[in-house]
Formats: sequence, C-alpha cells, structure tokens
Amino acid sequence: MATGNINVSVENIFPLIKKFLYSDHEIFLRELISNATDATLKLKHLTQIGESKAEYGNPIIEVKIDKEGKKLHIIDQGLGMTSDEVEKYINQVAFSGANEFLEQYKEKVEDAGIIGHFGLGFYSAFMVAEKVEIITKSHKDEPAAHWTCDGSPQFTLEAHDKTDRGTEIILHIAEDSLEFLEEGRISSLLTKYNKFMPVSIKFGTKTETLPKPEGAKEEDPAPTQEVDNIINNPNPAWTKQPSELEDEDYKGFYRELYPMQFEEPLFNIHLNVDYPFNLTGILYFPKMTNDMNMQKDKIQLYQNQVFVTDNVEGIVPEFLTMLRGVIDSPDIPLNVSRSYLQADGNVKKISSYITRKVADKLKSLFNNNREDFEKKWDDIKIVIEYGMLSEEKFFEKADKFALYPTVDGSYLTYEELEAKIKDSQTDKDGKTIILYASNKDEQHAYIEAAKGKGYEVLLLDSPIVSHLIQKLETTKENISFARVDADHIDNLIKKDEEQISKLSDEEKETLKTSLEAVVPKDKYTVQVETMSSDATPFMITQPEFMRRMKEMQQTGGGGMNMFGNMPEM
Ligand code: ADP
Ligand code: MG
Repeated sequence: MATGNINVSVENIFPLIKKFLYSDHEIFLRELISNATDATLKLKHLTQIGESKAEYGNPIIEVKIDKEGKKLHIIDQGLGMTSDEVEKYINQVAFSGANEFLEQYKEKVEDAGIIGHFGLGFYSAFMVAEKVEIITKSHKDEPAAHWTCDGSPQFTLEAHDKTDRGTEIILHIAEDSLEFLEEGRISSLLTKYNKFMPVSIKFGTKTETLPKPEGAKEEDPAPTQEVDNIINNPNPAWTKQPSELEDEDYKGFYRELYPMQFEEPLFNIHLNVDYPFNLTGILYFPKMTNDMNMQKDKIQLYQNQVFVTDNVEGIVPEFLTMLRGVIDSPDIPLNVSRSYLQADGNVKKISSYITRKVADKLKSLFNNNREDFEKKWDDIKIVIEYGMLSEEKFFEKADKFALYPTVDGSYLTYEELEAKIKDSQTDKDGKTIILYASNKDEQHAYIEAAKGKGYEVLLLDSPIVSHLIQKLETTKENISFARVDADHIDNLIKKDEEQISKLSDEEKETLKTSLEAVVPKDKYTVQVETMSSDATPFMITQPEFMRRMKEMQQTGGGGMNMFGNMPEM
C-alpha cells in the first residue's frame, strides 16, 4: 500500500471548493458520468484501431445508491486505469485542475456564472462526499488499483482484487448532502444532465410487461420481467443526419425533449456544421402567443451530448431565445462570464450561423408553400418581427418573406404591398402612405371609409408593431405609415373625387361645430367634409404622432418584458 501527498498549494481543498461551488453541487454527477462516458468511448476507439485487446461488448454505466452505507456508486466498463495512471491522472491532472481553479477564481466567487460552468471534473466529487474511493481495473493486463482520499492532500493507493474491467467511483456522501442518496433526486439529475448521453446509463431496474404467450387465457396475467432501467437515449435525433430523419422523427424528438408540451411545433431547423466550428442541433418554432411569459421550455445547450444549461443568452441572438430545441457544440467556452462570451469570435460566428439558418429555413418555407406559411404567420410573426428589429442581417433576409396582412385577410410581402399602392396612395409630396388598422372592430368605421376610397388597409396587431413601423419608415425610402383613424389619411390625394359628402355645406358646418364642442380639441380633429358614405358622415381622428408617442411609451415599458429593453431606434 502506498500513501502520499497530492501536490497542491492549498492545505485542504475540500472545505474551500465546497464553499465556492455551493450553489451548484449537483454538477458532480454530471462530471463523474462524463468521465465514465469518456472512459467507455476511449476504449471503443482503442479496440477499433486495434490498440486494445479488450472485448468492447455492450458496455453500460451504472449509478447505484446504497442508502444504509450512505454511498453513491458510479460504475463504468470503460478503459480503467492502472495504478500509475491513477497517480498521474487523478493525483496530478485532476487535482492540478482543481488547484488551478482555486487560484484563478478565488477572487471572483461573486460571478456565479463562471463557477456554474467550470468543468471541475473529478474533483467536484468532494462537493458532496467526505471520502471518495476509486476502484479501477485497466483494460491492460495489470492488477486493479484502489485509491482513497478524504479531500485532504493525503491519499492512499493499494492493490485491489477487482477483476472486471472498468472503474467504480464510490462517494461517501457527507452529512449535509444526504439528498443525493434519494432516488428521486438522483433520478431527476440524470434526466436533467444525462438524458442524451452516448453511453447507456442504468439506474435501478423496472418491470416490463411481456406479450401473453399464445393460447393464454383471458384471465391469465401478462408475464413480466425485471429489466435494466436505462434513463437515456444514446442516439438523439440531433446527432443524426437530416437525411436519416422524417418529419415524425423530429416531432418525436420534440416530445422527448419536452414531455410536458402537448402542442406540436410548427416546424424545425436542423443545424449541422463542422467548420469553422462544430455545431449540431435542432431548433423548433413553437406556436407563439403574444403572452410570452407563458414560455418555460427553452433551448438547451449541450456539449457532446452532456446537458450544460438552458440559458443560451449570448450564444443565440435574443430574438431566437423564444425557440425551443437543442444546440450541441464543444466550441462554446463555458468557464467564462456571459459578457466575455459575447465577445468570443467563435460564439459570434455560431450566433450568426444560427440566425442565417433560421432565415434560410423561413425563406424556403415561404417559397415552397406560401399558403402554409401564411397560415403559420400569426404564430411566428412575433419572432420574425423582433428579429427584424434587432438584427440587421436578419432584416435584410426577412424583408423578402415577412408578411403584412390586410384587413381583408390576404397577406402581402412588402414588395407586393408597395407595388399595389405606390401610385394610388400618395400624399401631396409624393410620399407613399401605408394605411393600417390595429383593431378591426374598434376601427371598423375608419377601415370602411378608407376602403371606400379604394385604399389598401393593413391589419397590424402585434405588440411590437409601432417599433416595426418606425424601422420600416427609416429603412424604406419615401414611405410613411398612418393608422386609419389618424389625420394623415386626409392628406392623401383623393383617389375618387366623385365620392363627396351628401351633406350640404351648411349641414357640415353645423355638425362640425357641435362635435367640436364635445371633443377635446387639443387631442382630436373632427372631419366632416371628406366623408362620403351615409354610414359614416364624419370622423374624429387623432394626430398620428400623438398616438404613436402614447403607444411607444406603453410598449417600451412593461408591455415588452419578455424582451427586456427594446433595441434603440
Ligand atoms: P477531465 O475529464 O477534464 O480530463 P477530470 O478531473 O474529470 O478531468 O478527470 C481527470 C482524469 O482522470 C481524466 O482525464 C481521466 O484520465 C481520469 N479518469 C477520471 N475518471 C475516470 C474513469 N471513470 N475511468 C478512467 N479514467 C478516468
Ligand atoms: Mg472529466
């Protein structure tokens, strides 16, 4: 038996690390299962290239709770370690990692974002255990080793009689971490972090019902058997090629990701790139409602099939955080703060790649099946409009497929709209005026009046429409938006001079005076002379700028809480 001192500068790392990582203790399990997975995949590789004589077989990883012994076991059938390798990889590598961590981050504990994602590896076991044992048998023809350490720099290393290949990590759970001996707690951790890891993970057994044998009687119970309870799907959809997957597979994977979501996604986008960065994933457009507070299920970030976080802020442009699905990339640095992340070159490229893929997908949906795209428009417009406001590149692409519904239920692209109204809806200066309503019922009379004059009226009712209008007015040349009940409409060159009011001048004057007596003059304008139909002999309009000011105040504040602050315009 050997004993020794782990070469670390901190006297006793255990209490220190525990303190620093307080909020994120649970990641120990993810780290240990990641190591077990690495060890299994390394063995697979070695056997494939003929550098290991071991029989790879069908290895699994097992997680076992020993409640009485207050122990948690993580057992793999991977390549294992020789005694020398334990010395090297655990005493030197694993601990130097922890040491480096302490040196680097001791001062920055407040920045919880950093710590949560720092891959502390093997050492994280000491966040929940007062003593850790490793029993490991290498695939090489060497005796097994048994390493024990209580978190102090002293360890023991001796021979062990384990004969089957692989590594067993035994955590002696500390008194303040007994929650990790609860089946429910471990089970939910496994579901959170390891649901799609590439090696099968067993946690207990379950009873499976078998088909009744032929000739069995009605009253005979169906036979059952105990089988391994495998908690993960080692081959999730995003790791496959798009050509291998049908629409049903994408829907199935969505249900797997969000078992509590009963609404089907509208469509998906398969991400798959390996240069200049590595990224795979599937994004889904869920049905969007204007009430974005309802949204709980988020995009999940993975690294090599290990769940990392569902906070993709800084990695995905903000307008796409409303989507769902999975992104898997080993090229996203995680041991850094969010602000650093946003400045990282790779992350910037990833973000613009995702934006481009989403725009391309929308464009192809639009091109390939316009009718269907129009049907989906109301459910997706909030994302697209927000993207147009916040990402210039996205605006340029979306400008070709963004739709503007009319009050009559048709959908026009900007180009189509412009072609339609450019000659007929201009003001005295030759500016094209785009008329729109925000509420069909409330503005019914105004809509009818405008239609009566042959004008096209859009129905723009999304919560960010006033911002979008501003954006279009500054981007497009020589256009202006006016709501149907605004005074602007009066500036339009009359299309049909025939349509004149049936009231006499005198009647008009009387009507106007009596209306003005009851309508606050500083806020509204009364129009009588332009009206033609009998149904609407007069109109009360509000100056466009006043209405907009009010609206911007509303949406710029609490109404837009899902987006935080609107982009400056
Ligand atoms: P990392 O996984 O980033 O290398 P860790 O601290 O998690 O760092 O692990 C240190 C090293 O210990 C690993 O690189 C590996 O060589 C070895 N190791 C840890 N767990 C196992 C295991 N279950 N089987 C074989 N080797 C392991
Ligand atoms: Mg590791």
